[in-house]
Amino acid sequence: MLKLQHVSKHFDNKAVLDDISVEIGTGEIVSLLGPSGSGKTTLLNMILGLTKVDHGKILFHDQDLSRVPMKKRGFNIVFQDYALFPNLNAYENIVYGLRNKKGAASAQEVQEYIDFLELQPHLKKRIGELSGGQKQRVALARTLVTKPRILLLDEPLSALDGVIKESIKQRIKSIAREFKLTTIIVTHDPEEALTLSDKILIIHQGKVAQFGTPQEIVHQPENEFVQEFIIKQL
Ligand code: ATP
Repeated sequence: MLKLQHVSKHFDNKAVLDDISVEIGTGEIVSLLGPSGSGKTTLLNMILGLTKVDHGKILFHDQDLSRVPMKKRGFNIVFQDYALFPNLNAYENIVYGLRNKKGAASAQEVQEYIDFLELQPHLKKRIGELSGGQKQRVALARTLVTKPRILLLDEPLSALDGVIKESIKQRIKSIAREFKLTTIIVTHDPEEALTLSDKILIIHQGKVAQFGTPQEIVHQPENEFVQEFIIKQL
């Protein structure tokens, strides 16, 4: 269980996140949804440990993370641009983070992730030879082999379209189910959030506009912002 309790963040005296409190259950897929500049990436970075929390607390299985540095949290992220190494092939990218890492996947487990993401035929290819969807799967595999306790995904579908987008969406869902992996996704697209998540945290101007299941968000929007933001884009 990941708990955010009254989390706030200021940049240059301006409140970017204000009093965010939510609880995320183990194995849940939760989207952080909101318009550009609402504070989604800042919140993701605070969970990851890249950005310090100003006020409030983040607890993971009741441990306060304020003094736990990023490397010790055991969370991992797939960045929006995948951040793959272009001079290495797909396999070398996947295992790159395993060097000297305790608790990471064994060779057999690495192979299981490769099979799960159907990457075997692409392992020897350079990153430049892969399609967008293949790059996303390599980035997912590279993150999964570190056996994260929470998987963070920053706009995982924004560079993909059509069939590929749908297939990556299904894979993200099956990863969360298969590995019972808590997955937190940043997106600005209501349709993506509604079809991908167990719960959605809608952020508006740094505050929680609503936190609920897709069903609740669509049928019981708690305010005008949620109603407009969701309905306008469906
Ligand atoms: P987008 O969808 O455009 O990526 P977002 O919802 O992820 O937006 P954030 O990137 O979290 O929003 O930014 C929220 C606000 O905080 C913005 O006004 C941004 O300019 C500001 N901000 C973010 N990082 C910093 C920083 N390091 N220093 C100063 N201001 C920052």
